[in-house]
Amino acid sequence: MAAPSTGTRRPIRLLDRRVLEHPGGRRLYVYGELRGQLPTDGARSEPPPQLHRRLDPLTGTWVAVSPARNARPQTPPRPGSADAPDGAVDTPDEGPSCPLCPGGPELPFSYEAAVFENRFPSLMAHPPAPPAAEDALIAPTAPSSGRCEVVLYTEQHVGSLATLAPAQVAEVVAVWTDRSNDLWAQADVADVLIFENRGEGVGATLSHPHGQIYAFDHLPPQIALRARRHREHRARHDDCLGCRVVAADDGAAERQVAANDSFTVAVPFAPRWPYEVHVRARRHGAGRLGDLTGDEQRDLAAALRDLVLRYDRLFDHDLPYMMVAHEAPHEQPDWHLSFEFFPPHRGPDKLKVRASVETATGLFINDTLPETTAAGLRETHPPHTDWREVVVPSVRQVD
Ligand SMILES: [Zn+2]
Ligand SMILES: [Zn+2]
Repeated sequence: MAAPSTGTRRPIRLLDRRVLEHPGGRRLYVYGELRGQLPTDGARSEPPPQLHRRLDPLTGTWVAVSPARNARPQTPPRPGSADAPDGAVDTPDEGPSCPLCPGGPELPFSYEAAVFENRFPSLMAHPPAPPAAEDALIAPTAPSSGRCEVVLYTEQHVGSLATLAPAQVAEVVAVWTDRSNDLWAQADVADVLIFENRGEGVGATLSHPHGQIYAFDHLPPQIALRARRHREHRARHDDCLGCRVVAADDGAAERQVAANDSFTVAVPFAPRWPYEVHVRARRHGAGRLGDLTGDEQRDLAAALRDLVLRYDRLFDHDLPYMMVAHEAPHEQPDWHLSFEFFPPHRGPDKLKVRASVETATGLFINDTLPETTAAGLRETHPPHTDWREVVVPSVRQVD
């Protein structure tokens, strides 16, 4: 279970980063060795037209309107993949048509790990002007300001956080941390959301191992709600809500899936999805990726890889999931960094559908007992991995 902390000084590993630009200015961050260059001429990607936000007058929440996203590429469908239970599993021969593989439009050369600004963004640093509102008093429009990036975990077309070598997962953590630090430092960024949609079951249109990052110019509703709950708890009880949640998870053995020195891994007390699992930083003050120590970074990589291994063994196929990292918004000292997973399954071949009640009211109905699903994940017994020698590298900019 818990990987013992060695307490010894860890060797420092450096990971080079170079910033390139596609014609038209979309940035490409290449991590590790630079093995090629981008063409200096070529099709410039134009800003998507009609990108904007509209306020829903009845809930006071924003909706991002991004019609150009419908044109984004999709991995070509495979015969019988739509209803096969292993539909999320890739076949290597799909490779050549994948836009994320080396030689594709995003990266014409071989790479270790990379991040690029999304060709089909929902949010942009310099968005087009929004259309006029119908009734600006109750329902204004706004530009869709923010950032949308794509994180490539590896150049290998087939794989996942479960099958990458520990050192590769450590590198993914280093890349996330680097982008997170950079985005939180931007004056117009109020929230950074690192996430991954894995599998067609959650709408992933490309199967190459990758995730995404959105940076928002405002706190999205669920994040704002969490921030308010933390502040209210502090005001009423003079302690940290995040610390209380960690203590509750630690005290409830039947909800725990795994744990290590730095992170709890548990089905939450009130999960909305049957196999929802949260990986939460234990230490008060570890609110963002950039707050983690070297040992904590390594423990995060270990916890994430272990959890995805468990998911994939649970029903004997790669379980689709949504994964999001919740990092502390500005001035939220009580926030504990968490990586939260939402697989859509409620059984080996049954999907939970977000149906009428959930969609209309926000009240989720969970058809499973959290303690039972946690036991199922505990009993998957993934093979032991030795993380003692793994070091999450520090990123350094190379000109
Ligand atoms: Zn690929
Ligand atoms: Zn705390």
